[in-house]
Amino acid sequence: MTTQTVLGHFIDGKRVAGASGRHADIFNPATGEVQAQVALADVDEVRAAVASARQAQPGWAATNPQRRARVFIRFVDLLNTHMDELAAMLSKEHGKTVEDSRGDIVRGLEVCEFVIGAPHLLKGEFTEGAGPAIDMYSIRQPVGIGAGITPFNFPGMIPMWMFAPAIACGNAFILKPSERDPSLPLRLAELMIEAGLPAGILNVVNGDRHAVDALLTDPDIGAISFVGSTPIARYVYGTAAANGKRAQCFGGAKNHMVVMPDADLDQAVNALMGAGYGSAGERCMAVSVAVPVGEETANRLVEKLVPKIEALRIGPFTDDKADMGPVVTREAKARIEGLIDRGVEEGAKLLVDGRGFKLQGYEGGYFVGGTLFDHVTPDMDIYRQEIFGPVLSVVRAGTYEDALALPMSHEYGNGVAIFTRDGDAARDFASRVNIGMVGINVPIPVPLAYHSFGGWKASSFGDLNQHGTDSIRFWTKTKTVTARWPSGIKDGAEFVMPVMK
Ligand code: NAD
Repeated sequence: MTTQTVLGHFIDGKRVAGASGRHADIFNPATGEVQAQVALADVDEVRAAVASARQAQPGWAATNPQRRARVFIRFVDLLNTHMDELAAMLSKEHGKTVEDSRGDIVRGLEVCEFVIGAPHLLKGEFTEGAGPAIDMYSIRQPVGIGAGITPFNFPGMIPMWMFAPAIACGNAFILKPSERDPSLPLRLAELMIEAGLPAGILNVVNGDRHAVDALLTDPDIGAISFVGSTPIARYVYGTAAANGKRAQCFGGAKNHMVVMPDADLDQAVNALMGAGYGSAGERCMAVSVAVPVGEETANRLVEKLVPKIEALRIGPFTDDKADMGPVVTREAKARIEGLIDRGVEEGAKLLVDGRGFKLQGYEGGYFVGGTLFDHVTPDMDIYRQEIFGPVLSVVRAGTYEDALALPMSHEYGNGVAIFTRDGDAARDFASRVNIGMVGINVPIPVPLAYHSFGGWKASSFGDLNQHGTDSIRFWTKTKTVTARWPSGIKDGAEFVMPVMK
């Protein structure tokens, strides 16, 4: 019998074994085999991470911002040096192709590059002579200890979105990654130490909802960043706020792509293939609804999509020619296939059926084939719910206004795209649509690190986004100082509210 590796936590600058006695299995999604286990932290282990963070944070906050930033210069270098190892580690637990895992890590690395400029963004504001002999200045100080709770689908990018700005701003950070793919986050913490980060500034606590609740109620944690599904985002936001913490919580999505009659149809089809089926549809910015405008556009679009979906190459992450891999768990596969069943019951026209997909040699893997529904309508469950799998729904719209009304009326508001050659239509769409991230002939409009990422409506709770200048605001508190020196102070007490005359 082989002994299973049990991944623990990363506390106070080193790996530690779990002590709660509770574990979760980590699967290889391509085979369905258990490849390791991860410890699930209890309250005491979360407290140990908080204690380490509390000890280390004042010294880190007192380190000048440029020296803090230099850790990220070295960390970026280490990420590049170890890229092959990190991408393979990620793919092995998540299931996505190695090339896709590189993209996951690179999108996080770019946020680390962005925070190398944090000293500039932390400078604050100064007004000389705000009153008689009075100067006024606003400074940004770290929140103290921040925590991040992250989803399975981007185990490299999303932890880095959070810990890079938090740490560059002088905070200590506790990461609670997804229990599905915890190896990469642990390795990132090790590399941060190698890059020169003091022990205790980045801790990783593995776990499930018990660890999350311990973080949400811990009096020493000042800010919570969450990315995951909407019901949990809503819960985390409410609980964090009730415990006096600031919170930014990002949830699920149902991203539409409108295809106008004048669009280059081949470009639109290729865009839908990548955005709908890349990473097996397990991206919060995946396109899951195609909205062709006019029957002719719809017929031509569907005609071009069907053979491409049927020709998708599906394989394990070790197949470097695969377009997509398996979905993450047996439960995810069952849920996605259940929703395909539901779409059929609801009367949508199933043009390509990915249920029951089997790959020779990987019969136990969690594969779902590319799936296409046509004639989906807004009242159907497959339209309203986030499927988070390789399933694309075509909702036919009669006019541009009908097409625009669809994402506008949907519960979610993460991303949206329009494909057109018409500048007026594109501009009108980008201006009116009530969605946080808009693509014009760009199917996955994920903003780069120096802009901010975030959806609207049920895709986001809280008012500051990930990365960009919003992240600097989220991870700092503003303090405003009003200063006057003895030569400017008049004799005698002043009893009225001070106003500028
Ligand atoms: P999830 O909500 O199941 O889990 C996210 C995190 O919450 C994990 O760390 C998990 O351990 C924790 N968690 C799960 N159940 C909990 C509970 N009852 N109480 C407290 N914590 C709990 O999400 P997932 O399946 O890992 O990720 C997929 C979801 O994330 C999709 O809905 C996707 O759209 C969303 N997502 C959103 C964004 C975005 O930026 N908006 C980005 C990536 C993923």
